[in-house]
Amino acid sequence: MSENIEVVVIGGGYAGVMAANRLTRRADVTVTLINPRPAFVNRIRLHQLAAGSGDAVVDYRNVLSDRVRLVAVVDYRNVLSDRVRLVVDTVTRIDPATRTVAPAARPDLGYDYLIYAVGSGSAAPTVPGAAEFAYRVGTLEEARRLRPALDDTPVSAPVVVVGGGSTGIEVAAEMAEQGRVVTLVCGEALAGYLHPRIRRSVVERLTRLGVTMLDGPDATAVEVTRDAVRLSGGHTLRSAVTIWTAGFSTPDLAARSGLSTDAMGRLLTDETLTSVDDERIVAAGDSASPSGAPLRMSCQSARPLGAHAADTVLARIEGGRPGTIDVGFFGQCIGLGRRAAMVQLATRDDTVTRFGFGGRVAAMIKESACRGVIEELAAEAREPGAFSWLFKDRKRGRKVRAAGEAVPVGR
Ligand SMILES: Cc1cc2nc3c(=O)[nH]c(=O)nc-3n(C[C@H](O)[C@H](O)[C@H](O)COP(=O)(O)OP(=O)(O)OC[C@H]3O[C@@H](n4cnc5c(N)ncnc54)[C@H](O)[C@@H]3O)c2cc1C
Repeated sequence: MSENIEVVVIGGGYAGVMAANRLTRRADVTVTLINPRPAFVNRIRLHQLAAGSGDAVVDYRNVLSDRVRLVAVVDYRNVLSDRVRLVVDTVTRIDPATRTVAPAARPDLGYDYLIYAVGSGSAAPTVPGAAEFAYRVGTLEEARRLRPALDDTPVSAPVVVVGGGSTGIEVAAEMAEQGRVVTLVCGEALAGYLHPRIRRSVVERLTRLGVTMLDGPDATAVEVTRDAVRLSGGHTLRSAVTIWTAGFSTPDLAARSGLSTDAMGRLLTDETLTSVDDERIVAAGDSASPSGAPLRMSCQSARPLGAHAADTVLARIEGGRPGTIDVGFFGQCIGLGRRAAMVQLATRDDTVTRFGFGGRVAAMIKESACRGVIEELAAEAREPGAFSWLFKDRKRGRKVRAAGEAVPVGR
């Protein structure tokens, strides 16, 4: 083995990039970041990218350590002098026994430690016709597919957004602000996660934007065709463009590699984020399931989880005991077009309160959060270890919710 400690990070999203940057605290650590795309995706702007009102793609040079050289190599073993290497590829298998990962287009790569940060994507719709005819916004490729479809559709044509969660609300608001005729199909309830008081304000804003909201027992989409969405109550909505936002899913790489996962496929870890199967594998972000009681999948938790995963690896390298996670929430900020947003405040363990606020102040907070995540990653690249977060080092531990207790899965 070389003198360097080789850490492979799978997934170059918020958690993976944060972890990769933080790991460069140690001069003897070499980080290889593997991601399918050569650019960073600021996923929290994907609905803006789809609507044509914002961009979500950021050059990795702006968020990874300045020691990073972007490498377009066939055999990355030729670039051992770099501290962090970006390999543009998709890992198809992890082999904990030989401590190797198998990228799709390159030879296997060995590691001393592995950070599993493969994130999440849109859930595959189970409703007939949805996979074929509905667009999604969970990944860069999906959002990019939607964009030309909207460009080719007259503004007066009906757009149906399926899913009454935060992503559905943001997509519907963004489209309506552009003058489109939008129906939001919510299923049982619009934003069930929100406090009723805050939900009312969201409904008011969407109403002002002209969005028609359908919820209740008759408002579940049961079939999608090329130009319509059929609802559980029997009603059929005309739809020139249908956008499916319901649900998150996680890649099945961990399960395929024989590692223990929760029911959603997230890597099962202890409270230090270490895999329950292997001390050399640490998870972060949406694809981590600490104690089988994962945090809400979100950018908000992915960054501190990424930092904590790096700290766990660094503690092990130093022969110390890794700390337990101290990540909590402040609530949620939902964009309602580019000129308004709604902040729902919550307790540390993500239980909503009756407090929140909206309007332009909330919109400014939303926009500064979208910029702020990039600035945070860049700051950690410049000064590894600098990133801190709400509740860091409050050694109360987190309240682990019981299985089945109400908590939103994503966002
Ligand atoms: C439209 C939209 C708006 C959102 N708004 C908010 C918001 O306002 N606030 C909030 O907190 N959250 C928001 N989210 C959720 C947030 O984006 C995710 O929870 C967050 O991206 C999770 O970060 P991550 O680093 O765990 O994973 P990701 O950002 O998903 O990154 C994972 C990376 O791993 C890569 N990867 C996957 N499999 C492999 C593999 N086998 N090999 C190599 N690489 C792989 C992926 O391609 C990706 O680049 C939003 C999501 C969407 C879609």
